[in-house]
Amino acid sequence: MEEIDKNSGYCTITYKLRIYSKYDDFLKKTKSIYNEIILFYYKLLLEHQEFLNLSNQYCLRELEKLTIKNKNGEIPKNYLDLEVPTYFRRAAINQAIGSVRSYVSLTQKNKQISETQSFNCSPVFYKGMYKNFNSKSVEVKLWNGEEWKWYLLKLNGKNLDSTMQTLSPTILINSKYMMLHIPIKQVVEDIRPVALRMKDENLRVCGVCFSNYDDFAICTILDKNGKFVKSKFIKGGKEYKNRTSKILSQIKKDRQNSKVITPRDHKTYWQKLEQIDDYTAHKVSKEIIDFCLMHGAKVISIAKVEENVSGFERKVGKHSPIYLKRRIINNLQYKAFKNGILITTVRQNYTASRCYKCRAKIKRKEANFVCENNHQGNYYFNTSMNIGKMCLKKFGL
Ligand SMILES: [Zn+2]
Repeated sequence: MEEIDKNSGYCTITYKLRIYSKYDDFLKKTKSIYNEIILFYYKLLLEHQEFLNLSNQYCLRELEKLTIKNKNGEIPKNYLDLEVPTYFRRAAINQAIGSVRSYVSLTQKNKQISETQSFNCSPVFYKGMYKNFNSKSVEVKLWNGEEWKWYLLKLNGKNLDSTMQTLSPTILINSKYMMLHIPIKQVVEDIRPVALRMKDENLRVCGVCFSNYDDFAICTILDKNGKFVKSKFIKGGKEYKNRTSKILSQIKKDRQNSKVITPRDHKTYWQKLEQIDDYTAHKVSKEIIDFCLMHGAKVISIAKVEENVSGFERKVGKHSPIYLKRRIINNLQYKAFKNGILITTVRQNYTASRCYKCRAKIKRKEANFVCENNHQGNYYFNTSMNIGKMCLKKFGL
C-alpha cells in the first residue's frame, strides 16, 4: 500500500507490523466504539450537507460545535453522549466526512446507492492516542469497556529506524490476528518533471518493453544522443508461467472431473495465484528500478498500455507474463517516484515493427529480427531501443 504525491516531494509507504497482545478484546471494543462514532457523525453530516462546502478541517469544527459541550459546559442539541478522547473522536469524524463526501458525489452522479447503516472501519490512532512507538512495541489508548487506558502492544515485522517520519497508525482487527499499519513519509530527492530532466547534460533514458516469454522486461539505457549504454533482460517469465499454469490446470482438471471442490479449495488456488502475481510483479519492477539506479537513468520510457485488454492478452490469458505487465507497471510507478525516477509513455506505433537503426520495416525470426537493410539483432532489444529513442524524440532530442 504505497501512495505518492507528485507535487509535495514526499511519498508515503506503509509498514505492516503484526500485533501480539492479550488485549484483543479491548482492541475489538475500541474498534466498535470507533465505528459507532463514525455512524453518529455520518448521519449528522447528512442532515447538515451545507458543511460539505467547507474544508475538512472547518467541517470537523462545525460538527464538533454541534456535538460537544462548549466552554461553559452547555450541552448541545446533538450531544455525543460517549466518553472519548478528542483525537480519537477526530479520527472518526474525518472518516465520517470522507464517507459522506463519497456518498454525496456518487448520488450526484445518479449512482443508486443507499446510506450506510453500519461501518466496519479500522481505527486510526492520531497523536495523543499512541506513544513510545518503536519496531518492538507501542502503547495505545484503548477502551476496555469502562475507561480509556494505556496498553502496551508487542509488535513484530519490519525494523523501523528512529529517523523515519511516521504518520498516524491504523490497527486492523481480523478474526485471526491484529495488524498495525504505519505510514512512513519519505522525502523524494528529485521531483522535477520529465521535461526538465530531459535537459540534463548527462541525461540517460531507459526504454522498457515486455514480452510473453522468459524475458519479462527488456530494459535498454540510452544517452542523450540515443547512443546505447547498457541493456538488461529481466528473466523469470518461464518459471512464472510454469507455476501459474500448474495451478490453473489443476483448477481446470477439478472442474472437468466435476469433482466437488469446496469454495475453500478454490480460495486456496486463487490466493496462491494472487501471491505469485504479487511477488513476481514486485520482483520484476524492483529489478528494473535497480538497473536504472545503477546506470543513472532518471527517466523510464514505456509504450502506452491501452486500458482495455488486447486480443493477444485475452488469448494468452491472465497469469501470463504479458498480462502481468500491467501490474509490473503499476508497481513501477511508485517505486520509480520513490527513487527519484519518472515514467513517461510513448505511442506504441512502430516500436516493434521498425528497425532502431534505420527505421526500415523489420521481419521477426523467433527471438531475432532482420530489417530491409539487413540490420539484425534481438527482437525485444530492438523494441526497447525504439521506445527509448521515441522518448528522446518526444522531448525534441
Ligand atoms: Zn535497419
